[in-house]
Amino acid sequence: MIGISALCVYCGSSNHVAPGYLEAARRVGLEAASRGIGIVFGGGRVGMMGAVAEGALEAGGEVIGIIPNHLQEQEVGHDGLTRLEIVDSMHVRKMRMFELSDAFCALPGGLGTLDETFEIVTWKQLGLHDAPVLLVNLDGYWDPLLEMVAHQAEAGFVRPQHRQLFQVVDSIEALFAALETAKPPSVKVDSRRL
Ligand code: AMP
Repeated sequence: MIGISALCVYCGSSNHVAPGYLEAARRVGLEAASRGIGIVFGGGRVGMMGAVAEGALEAGGEVIGIIPNHLQEQEVGHDGLTRLEIVDSMHVRKMRMFELSDAFCALPGGLGTLDETFEIVTWKQLGLHDAPVLLVNLDGYWDPLLEMVAHQAEAGFVRPQHRQLFQVVDSIEALFAALETAKPPSVKVDSRRL
């Protein structure tokens, strides 16, 4: 069976977080590289984003970054990547990340991470793809979000079966264990139709 070969990582761009988060991000990069799984990410060298890339590159992994022109300066595009694509807009960035990846994971992050994660989840909800999406709930970081989704389901806004659109794992080991048995997407809409 052909497994996951390119993992899209969504995560925070802030440097002002507990060092453990940055260390965890680095480990995700390293563990991916050691399994021959390439990383696709937002291309910045800051915060957890930069740490994921550093970890993967140090372990000899492939890392592809996609950054929009206007963020190139702010996020300081990482120049040591296997490839850095500079695109015209946030929309194209998210489309390219979708095109290049066959599984998606969200590490702790801020508002941008939420946007990216829920965009990929809602595309799945609409049947535009069936790729694995994993929420990495380190130190219970995403607990309040999971409570929110449970609340949405209780109130009838989220269908019970849609709570299965993403899988929650609580450690990096569990992330890679899940990826080992995960199937690459069998449905992936042409990104021009997104
Ligand atoms: P954050 O989680 O806010 O630190 O952001 C993580 C990533 O999400 C960064 O690469 C940001 O460029 C990106 N991002 C920030 N805001 C948005 C947004 N409104 N839509 C899509 N991506 C965003």
